[in-house]
Order: sequence, then structure tokens, then C-alpha cells
Amino acid sequence: MKNLRKFNEALLGKWLWRFGMEKEAFWRKVIMAKYGIMEGGWMSNIPNGPHGDDVWCSEEPLKLAYPALYRIAYVKEAVVADCVHFRGDFVHWESIWKAKVPPRVAFFSWTAALGKILTADNLRCCGIILVSWCYMCKADGESVDHLFLHCPYAKELWDMILALFGIYWVMPKRVLDLFICLQGSLGSHQHFVVWKAIPHCLMWCLWRERNVRVFKGCEISVVELKLQFYRSLMDWMSAIRLDRFSNMLEFLDYCSF
Ligand SMILES: [Zn+2]
Repeated sequence: MKNLRKFNEALLGKWLWRFGMEKEAFWRKVIMAKYGIMEGGWMSNIPNGPHGDDVWCSEEPLKLAYPALYRIAYVKEAVVADCVHFRGDFVHWESIWKAKVPPRVAFFSWTAALGKILTADNLRCCGIILVSWCYMCKADGESVDHLFLHCPYAKELWDMILALFGIYWVMPKRVLDLFICLQGSLGSHQHFVVWKAIPHCLMWCLWRERNVRVFKGCEISVVELKLQFYRSLMDWMSAIRLDRFSNMLEFLDYCSF
């Protein structure tokens, strides 16, 4: 009689091998669309145990296999999913999901950090042909990173915010890196809650304005966009009762150094 366990493992191994080899197969595309794909292939489970105690990267728990590394871990009780690391993409998902912003906005930011929102370059990858310019600056090609970080419109908003908070930095290349940079910028400062909400609000406002331009054919000026940004941010902060702001000036005063 066959050893069913080994037989099953062999079959699963065959499917994993086919997943790596049959790049154009329809079944592979269905799995990729439904579950996503990461560097190196398909991962069926999100690792979610404590990263020091669970067996997930070698034959034994990290704290036994690499005691020196575990000693210098910043948050020892962090779970594996909090610090997934694939070829340099260190993702602090917590900095996205725990920001005090509406859930639909956090979900949007998460999708943007993964580079999966429907910008022109992503639509082109799906075979949908659109104009290749950015709807905001009408110059460079539209990509997630251009739209939210490097477009002159985005830059105007970022410069305004960095000046308000008195922070100097070099804009990261990708949206993914943005959430990592922001994590350590203000530490435990009293404005940390506002600061964490800022990238969400900025990207949300830019995306809304971009969609109005695409689907309704009208646009607002960058000054109006800045006001819209502050209005949204103030509303979100008032909603969590961070403070009671009777007007915009009071809110700006609270944020500034
Ligand atoms: Zn642009």
C-alpha cells in the first residue's frame, strides 16, 4: 500500500514546481489573482506567530537559532507578519493599519503600498490602454510612486507638510518605503497621531482629485487641493476626539512647531 502522506507531499511538490515553471498557465493566473504572489513564488499562509518563538525560518525558533540577532530585536513580541522581509521590502503593516484614519482609507493606502491601485501603468499591464501621462501634472507617465511621491502636485503637498512639522528628508523612491521612513520620523512626539495619518490623507486627496479629473473632466487648483487636504485631516482627527478644533487655524497651530 502507498504511503499516503509521502504521496500527498510529492503531489504538492509537483504543483509547486508547476507553479514555478508554467508562467502563462491559466490556473496559475487564477491563483495569483486570488491570493497574490510574492518574491520567490506563492505563499499560502501569512506567518503570524511570535517571530522569536515560532519555527518559521530554520529548524528551530529564531531566539535559539540566532540568539545574537534576537537580543537586538526592537520589539521582541512582534509577530512574523509584522516584519515580513522579502529582498529589502521591509513592511511595517502596522504603520498602515493602525493609523487613525477611516478603514476604507487605510485599505486604499495598503493597496497603494503594494502598488496595486489602478494607475495607468498597472492598467497597461492588464492590457487596458489609457493615455500614459499623469492626470495631475500632465507630463510624466502615471505610476503609483509618481502620483503620490514625485509628481509636482504631490511634491507641493509634501513640502507644505514637512515645513509645517519642521522635518527635512529625502523623498523615498517608493510608497512602500514611505511608510517605513515615516515610522521613525517623529518618535513618540505628541503629534505622532496626526503625523501617522498624513500619508493616508495626502494620498487619499490626490487619488480623489485624480479620479475627478479622469472621470468628470474637471479639476481644482493646487491651493484648493491643499485646503481639501487640511479639511479632511482635521475632520479625521476631530472624529477620534484628538482635540476639539473650532477652525482650521487652530488645527494648523496644533500641528506646527
Ligand atoms: Zn504627475
